[in-house]
Amino acid sequence: MTFHDFKFDQKLIDGLDSMGYSKPTPIQQQAIPVILDNHDLIACAQTGTGKTAAYILPVLNKIIHAETRHLNTLVIAPTRELAQQIDQQIEGFAYFLGVSSLPIYGGGDGATWDQQRKALEQGADIIIATPGRLIALLAAGTIKFDHLQHLILDEADRMLDMGFFDDIVKIIKYLPTERQTLLFSATMPPKIRMLAGKILNKPQEINI
Ligand code: AMP
Repeated sequence: MTFHDFKFDQKLIDGLDSMGYSKPTPIQQQAIPVILDNHDLIACAQTGTGKTAAYILPVLNKIIHAETRHLNTLVIAPTRELAQQIDQQIEGFAYFLGVSSLPIYGGGDGATWDQQRKALEQGADIIIATPGRLIALLAAGTIKFDHLQHLILDEADRMLDMGFFDDIVKIIKYLPTERQTLLFSATMPPKIRMLAGKILNKPQEINI
């Protein structure tokens, strides 16, 4: 199997070539067709399996074919380190596509409130956020998710271990109900199943 099998836009294929991605990993082989088909997804996959590209590549392919461009995709991640890593991977592909991403997190080396507000005003296709800072921006009315199409929870089990369950439920109240939701987690304890039952709609399931 190659990335051509997903009928990706040539610009995305060029980006993959330039980054040295020649063959989809098992999680990518299974998840990409499900995401391109607009199903919700619950995927059990560890870090290092290529899970980030598994959700970001089909989302990028959809964004570049969208008729109008708005804030389209929200990725929620447990830590600023992971949010930065995800943002860097997206930037690598997005360079060829004219798609923009913006990481949002608080704490020491996070951008200031004003910097984030300015960056948001300039518009982004994809936001990668940690839960705490995102709630603060939502409560202040700084981010609007009216046109959001994709919500991705990355390392969902870690987010619940860190006590973010209530924050995630709160964030979801600000999002359109008509959206595609993708939940990635290294483990599937009962509380992840409970969260999935609350926020996913007839999800397909993948275990790597
Ligand atoms: P992740 O599991 O998303 O943290 O990805 C682990 C690493 O694998 C990252 O450095 C990716 O850039 C890399 N990677 C992901 N998919 C592929 C692929 N199909 N071919 C080569 N490298 C990949």
